[in-house]
Amino acid sequence: MIEIRDLRVSYGERTVAAVPELDVRAGECVAIVGESGSGKSTTLLAALGLTEGARVAGRVRVCGVDVLAARPKELRRLRGSRAALVMQSPQAALSPTTRLGTLMSRALRLHGARRGSALDRVMAEAVEAVMLDPAVLRRYPHEISGGQAQRFAIALAIALGAGVILADEPTSALDVTVQAEVVGVLRRLRAERDLALLIVSHDLALVSTIADRVLVMRAGEVVESGLAAQVLTTPAHPYTRELLEALP
Ligand code: ADP
Repeated sequence: MIEIRDLRVSYGERTVAAVPELDVRAGECVAIVGESGSGKSTTLLAALGLTEGARVAGRVRVCGVDVLAARPKELRRLRGSRAALVMQSPQAALSPTTRLGTLMSRALRLHGARRGSALDRVMAEAVEAVMLDPAVLRRYPHEISGGQAQRFAIALAIALGAGVILADEPTSALDVTVQAEVVGVLRRLRAERDLALLIVSHDLALVSTIADRVLVMRAGEVVESGLAAQVLTTPAHPYTRELLEALP
């Protein structure tokens, strides 16, 4: 679902992310870890053609779309439906005066759905898939918690039929029990719907609970990659060991 080869993202003369190889297949979760500023978000954004102002070289395919060669319209279609981006604090991106149900139905209609009972069913199912009460659709963004907002953002992706979710620090703004809920939802959706997940996180404890494979980045370079079970228990690179030792 995601295939990256020889990716280089530069701002001016500075290369901020160089990723030789990154694949995420359906039903798989890959996590990019590393300290702040190591190039994780840049890699994630480059996968969706969202690194504005950057020079991007290499090959990036997401759901069959050649991201670096695609027209803006094709990229918008990809991002609006098949590949969804889930950000750290989705509440900020939601219009404060629009009920969540209206927001979801608008997004679906923008992608061709018709108003009616079928649409209502899709919305209710998506909301239930992330363990939210469908009553949440009548609420305004400020009436829900951070964890509910994050699960709503995931529900929106599900309703739009996304097969790929790219999540940037999806739980960093949440407290620990709510973090576990959101990760639980992602894990279940991956299993039930064969979703491909690419997650960026500085939280190795969280990553160990969901990722199949891990890519460790430092100062724009991939220093280590492999099976999560292996990298997080017997790291080969001193930097990965450092990250693991820093865990509480
Ligand atoms: P991480 O997600 O690991 O915290 P980022 O990918 O956000 O790291 O950033 C990597 C580096 O790229 C940082 O040094 C950051 O300052 C730089 N960077 C990110 N976006 C831009 C931009 N739009 N213009 C210039 N530099 C940027």
